[in-house]
Amino acid sequence: MALDIRQIPVLKDNFIYLAREPKSGAVAVVDPAVAGPVLETADRLGWKITHILNTHHHGDHVGGNMEIKEATGCTIVGPGHDPDRIPGMDVQVKDGDTYDLGQSRAQVFFVPGHTSGHIAYWFKDSDALFCGDTMFSIGCGRLFEGTPQQMWTSLSRLRALPPQTQIYCAHEYTESNIRFAVSVDPNNAALRRREAEVKSLRAAGKYSVPSTLGEERAANPFLRADAPELAAAIGMAGRSPVEVFAEVRARKDKF
Ligand code: ZN
Ligand code: FE
Repeated sequence: MALDIRQIPVLKDNFIYLAREPKSGAVAVVDPAVAGPVLETADRLGWKITHILNTHHHGDHVGGNMEIKEATGCTIVGPGHDPDRIPGMDVQVKDGDTYDLGQSRAQVFFVPGHTSGHIAYWFKDSDALFCGDTMFSIGCGRLFEGTPQQMWTSLSRLRALPPQTQIYCAHEYTESNIRFAVSVDPNNAALRRREAEVKSLRAAGKYSVPSTLGEERAANPFLRADAPELAAAIGMAGRSPVEVFAEVRARKDKF
């Protein structure tokens, strides 16, 4: 069954997601940075939280774990690739595993790069990807614990999902990502379209997330490290995708 997904903005620019599987009534919280707004939103909707799904161990993704677990008795699912850093983890999932939220099945991808244990959850029947801090709209996570090769491999795997996949990432970073992206990929028409779209969304007080994977493939420079025109635009024609990716990521770190 397709999930009913709600977006909760918290802290400066984080998104927490609530996802309800309507047949069973199972409700998952994805990456609860904090507990209060999650419990309030679930209450208001009349939804009973049964699960937490964590993508990685950073505080702005697991900070609400224990309080939500204490309040609801929910099951905490997280990366088996990172067994010691997820507070209260009950179920460890790894690359290639599936996890059933009621009648909705998530496929798990191990996507190291931002952290060494990061995973993503793909709910195929809902066209929903919860990718934490691996992919952002027009960006990707910083390489705190991984190499450019690892992150490029991770992003390449996510990029291969269907184009209609909705990218439920964990931060509203899109405007600043676009300011950087146009500096490395100035002639990309899809990026310029996204720039205009995001400008009007944000001016209207709306979120730029989720986007679709199809849009990201065309406009996100971190998914385009194997595009000859991007390599040429940064003076790296003929270099490998990993080298181009590493250079774009390094420029973003200094931008
Ligand atoms: Zn993070
Ligand atoms: Fe984060």
